[in-house]
Amino acid sequence: MLNEPVTHVKGIGEKAAEDLALLKIYTIADLLLYFPYRYDVYEIKPLSELIHDDKATIEGRVVHDPSLTFFGKRKSRLTFTVEVEGVAIKAVMFNRAFAKKQIQAGDTITLTGKWDAHRLQITVSNYKKGSADEQADVQPMYSVKGDVTNYKLKKYMQAALTEYGDAITEILPANLLVSYKLPSRSEAVKTMHFPADRIALKHARRRFTYEEFLVFQLKMQLLRKLKREATKGNAQHYDAEKVKAFISSFPFELTGAQQKSLHQIMADLKSPYRMNRLLQGDVGSGKTAVAAIGLYAAITAEKQGALMVPTEILAEQHFQSLTALFGQLAKIALLTGSVKGKKRKEMLQAVQNGEVDIVIGTHALIQDDVFFHDLGFVIVDEQHRFGVEQRRTLRDKGLNPDVLFMTATPIPRTLAITAFGDMDVSIIDEMPAGRKEVETLWAKENTFERILDFIAKRIAEGEQAYVISPLIEESDKLDIQNAVDLFHQLEAYYPEEINVGLMHGRLSAQEKDSVMKEFAANNIQVLVSTTVVEVGVNVPNATVMVIYDAERFGLSQLHQLRGRVGRGSKQSYCILIAEPKGEVGKERMRIMTETTNGFELSEQDLQLRGPGDFFGRKQSGVPEFKVADMIHDYRALETARNDAQEIVETNQLEENKEYRALKHYLEREFSFADKID
Ligand code: ADP
Ligand code: MG
Repeated sequence: MLNEPVTHVKGIGEKAAEDLALLKIYTIADLLLYFPYRYDVYEIKPLSELIHDDKATIEGRVVHDPSLTFFGKRKSRLTFTVEVEGVAIKAVMFNRAFAKKQIQAGDTITLTGKWDAHRLQITVSNYKKGSADEQADVQPMYSVKGDVTNYKLKKYMQAALTEYGDAITEILPANLLVSYKLPSRSEAVKTMHFPADRIALKHARRRFTYEEFLVFQLKMQLLRKLKREATKGNAQHYDAEKVKAFISSFPFELTGAQQKSLHQIMADLKSPYRMNRLLQGDVGSGKTAVAAIGLYAAITAEKQGALMVPTEILAEQHFQSLTALFGQLAKIALLTGSVKGKKRKEMLQAVQNGEVDIVIGTHALIQDDVFFHDLGFVIVDEQHRFGVEQRRTLRDKGLNPDVLFMTATPIPRTLAITAFGDMDVSIIDEMPAGRKEVETLWAKENTFERILDFIAKRIAEGEQAYVISPLIEESDKLDIQNAVDLFHQLEAYYPEEINVGLMHGRLSAQEKDSVMKEFAANNIQVLVSTTVVEVGVNVPNATVMVIYDAERFGLSQLHQLRGRVGRGSKQSYCILIAEPKGEVGKERMRIMTETTNGFELSEQDLQLRGPGDFFGRKQSGVPEFKVADMIHDYRALETARNDAQEIVETNQLEENKEYRALKHYLEREFSFADKID
């Protein structure tokens, strides 16, 4: 019944239906679930409490009939005087000539509008004859388009609710409604449109907030279950003794957070379920070390491992550090776009016949001609840099391999359980002992020479520096020009024995590589670069990171850049050159100078930017909720998440009659078949 077109509602004709289609309202259900985006609360206050230039509601008696004047083309002004608390207030109403007939001397009237305290005047946006209700009047405000006005929508809603309001059926099971004291769906819909008072509205919103979160989390949990699906071949019978020995060969002890994450990964490997896990941790928190142990476990189970990273520089670095870590324990291959011809052919051969245990590579890993002997464990580093299709392609090179995604962008918990709700998440939120916090300073542009001298002092101590060049929005070319200019400027400034290097996105892979090698070998002391050094580059001897135009970056990106230093045992510095205009920019600089914990920082970033912007525009995986707000309602989100997990784990949707309506609702709303990547 609710799926009937809106024209079935009394008072909605073809024209109105066309107008409503602009708001994507086609059916009666669409209409009823089109909630106000805000509410105006009309609360009468004494004149002494009204604020100049603010919205106000007053109640008074009309002193004389309104007078109407016309001006311009079809514009009108209606004025009259009302007596409020014995004071004469002038009321002005624009373009509502029709109201003249309705307002008469002696009427009691409630007026809402903008208050001018100097002239004792109110510019009326809304009026109501008679006294205001005892309670504050709560008026729905819908977002409207074209010919649909707020007034019309209210009329349509009223009609639809009268006829169809009771046809709205409950989808939540009774036990949840009872334990959270939520109003029924039908009652809540009515309240959303016509709240009796603010308290009723609060409960209706609470209900839809929970419903939206629960439905979404159920979808994620069902998806997670599908992805994890048990397959016989998946359990990896690794050699626990060998793994233990491998760990004890490390020159350090694992941190508690590393151990915990490792535990979760090993349990996934051992289980017949496919691993679908995200490992989150700040730069330098030791994710790669954990990943290496997982890879080794897979090798002892006679499987192969693959590690895919977004850039050649990173691939090379991982190759070097893993080669050092594994020694003779594994045969590791590095497969990038620069491996070509005969060498590539031989490498692919060795991967295919199982001589190679671990392949580390870039996109080159997912080319059609790459075949594995038996790929059991896939790791994707900086996973957000790869598309769904690319991740799928790599996974499909094995037979249901376990998959671990890694990211050094700490994601706030609320976002993680929404955007990655279909994954398991491990978090390394602890730094290895002995790391010094990077000291972060915020500087003005005119201090640049002092900064250059500071860098020179660090270099005199044998250390190195990065200088991230100014940013030109949407112009790669100008960005590079800036980097080049800055490079020449520094070369001219520093004496000959200080070598300045240049790095940007237009360099070929070989050129980038050779610059990075020179920098790593300390043949270059100052590296001027665009933001291409952002990801994963590891030169522990670099202790200074200078970032131009720091106000133009998000907190997460600044934190990433800062993570390039502080990787050794020496004190490191991050200098942000910024002259932010707005408050948000200033706040960002302040947070950077005060917070070095990535997770804390990401929470603050979320507060500043809001969930939509956090990941940038592209398919963030963060849904738009109608009523719920991930930041303010995070408690409800966590509750819904736990409930969804329990419902799916205990199979309530299939086995419990009470959950049947919810199950049908989910089936109607989503099709899962094509959602598995
Ligand atoms: P990530 O991949 O998270 O950036 P890495 O695994 O590359 O971090 O670790 C960064 C550095 O810290 C490496 O040099 C690594 O050897 C070292 N490291 C890792 N775990 C520990 C630990 N528990 N104690 C001391 N050093 C560690
Ligand atoms: Mg497994």
